[in-house]
Amino acid sequence: MLRPDARAASSSSSRRRRPRAWTWATTWATACGLALLCSTGCARTHLFYDARELRHEPLKDHQKDDLQALLAGRLKDRRVVRVDNAGRQRVVDTSRAGLGRLSLAELGALWLATSTGDQGGESDLRVRTGPRSVPVTVTIALDGSVVVHSGGREADPDEGPLLSEGEIRDQYRLKTTLPGQWKENERRALAQALSLLSPAELDVVRGLGFERRAKPADGDPDKAALYALQGCRGTISLYSSGVRSDRYRFVGDPTTPRSAVLHSLLHEMGHAFERDAARDAYCAAGRTSGARRNELIERGNALGRDSPMLRAFLAVKAGEPGPTDYADASPHEAFAESFALFHMDPDALRRALPRVHAWFKDGGHERAAKAPPGS
Ligand SMILES: [Zn+2]
Repeated sequence: MLRPDARAASSSSSRRRRPRAWTWATTWATACGLALLCSTGCARTHLFYDARELRHEPLKDHQKDDLQALLAGRLKDRRVVRVDNAGRQRVVDTSRAGLGRLSLAELGALWLATSTGDQGGESDLRVRTGPRSVPVTVTIALDGSVVVHSGGREADPDEGPLLSEGEIRDQYRLKTTLPGQWKENERRALAQALSLLSPAELDVVRGLGFERRAKPADGDPDKAALYALQGCRGTISLYSSGVRSDRYRFVGDPTTPRSAVLHSLLHEMGHAFERDAARDAYCAAGRTSGARRNELIERGNALGRDSPMLRAFLAVKAGEPGPTDYADASPHEAFAESFALFHMDPDALRRALPRVHAWFKDGGHERAAKAPPGS
């Protein structure tokens, strides 16, 4: 569709909503009645990465016996394997007494992950057992069998190197400043996200603006981050809701948990990478005028909707859902979620969409980026 006004025509955005949250009532008695949730999601037939926030009150030691009783019923006749920090696997005795060998955090994670009633998911949960939380991954197969892997200790998001804004800009040769109030963990997540990119991906991303804002212009509290393309200028904005998600989720391995902010940032970087061909066309339009300009804007619009990269991605994905629930919102979101997962938890992407994982690993998206626009 040809639009005469470059700014309006080239405005496109895509946002990552904060993962849908189950907010549970504060009392234990209410929390036990969650079997009802099963009616909304038990019929899954595919493996997926479960990015929902499972909010809960901190668990107390005296609730352990109640948890054991509840889980003994829920896990009856299901195979449950516990992975320890050395990677050793052990089948768990799922009787009420047998479950007593698990830690409070492991029991809490099993309770949370099985409360949605869904099967096929991998959940990276922060189980609150006090002021801090214990990272635990629970993976549920389509047959209902469960693997629980605990980080084993209370841990805040990965304490990787903390770079100043100037150091981040120098190290990754970013072209702009970082407006807004970036907190330490956010700067750490941004540096981590940039460090995970390939040279070709970084080439695209370093030309973007990165902004930290309290909330989006429309005030939507569920919006975690946004990629906006206005003319030639691409900007990733991170909102406070995206930062708060660290309370109930982490990403990556539970023994070296990373901030969920990484997910938001990598997701938006995925949008920027997928829409780079459109941005190129808009940038070229800005350097010319008249009919040629309109032609380039039209090309940018078309590439924003349907690029060779997106087409190649969808061909590999071959109609499979996921890898997350949010990915099913549109092909663009599926690409962004896959891109994020490939970088922050490649095993999770391999589990959910093995062909898509192989495509990213083999550089399929980078080859598609070089394909001529008309292909
Ligand atoms: Zn998105």
